[in-house]
Amino acid sequence: MAKLPYRVHLVPVTGASIESNSWACGECQRVCWDYNHAFSCCRPTLCNMCGKEIGRKHYLVCDECLVKKENERQEAAWDRMPEVPYDGGPVYDGDRYFQNDEDYWEHYYEGDADGRVELCDEKKLGYHVTPDNVLDYLNERMLEDVDDDDTAKLDGEEELRVALEKFFDSQTYMVWVTNGKKAFLEKPEGGE
Ligand SMILES: [Zn+2]
Ligand SMILES: [Zn+2]
Repeated sequence: MAKLPYRVHLVPVTGASIESNSWACGECQRVCWDYNHAFSCCRPTLCNMCGKEIGRKHYLVCDECLVKKENERQEAAWDRMPEVPYDGGPVYDGDRYFQNDEDYWEHYYEGDADGRVELCDEKKLGYHVTPDNVLDYLNERMLEDVDDDDTAKLDGEEELRVALEKFFDSQTYMVWVTNGKKAFLEKPEGGE
């Protein structure tokens, strides 16, 4: 059993000892901010939630309790989420995304899915390249050797810009993003 903390005594040059507000660890004599820090300094760290030894310093809860806490947090978040009727569209089950309810049940027809899902919105994202990036690149490379006249322009630049804008407009991809609403999917009748 580790020794209990003790009050740190200041011994000024006058010789009289003054009790300070600080505590020191009874084992290693390290001076700590308060009694609790001094007490736990050389002792095994115990989990705040279950009291089990953590085996590492500077952690308040053990791994198991951390998982438990996270699960509780997720459950509470789920409970708070507004529920709406399912009206088609992509869904998320906390693990993966599905195109729609059919896709969801197809994946789970033998599994233990309960139909509780989060609804998703479809978002159109573009690439981080613009017609300007391409034109700047071409201008830099192709007009490099054309004296310092910065009014120099590539032939057909305007036509190219129009074509590039059209090209980049169609270079998008769709992503599914949960929208903070949940729904309950009915299991289809006569499913396998
Ligand atoms: Zn110590
Ligand atoms: Zn614990």
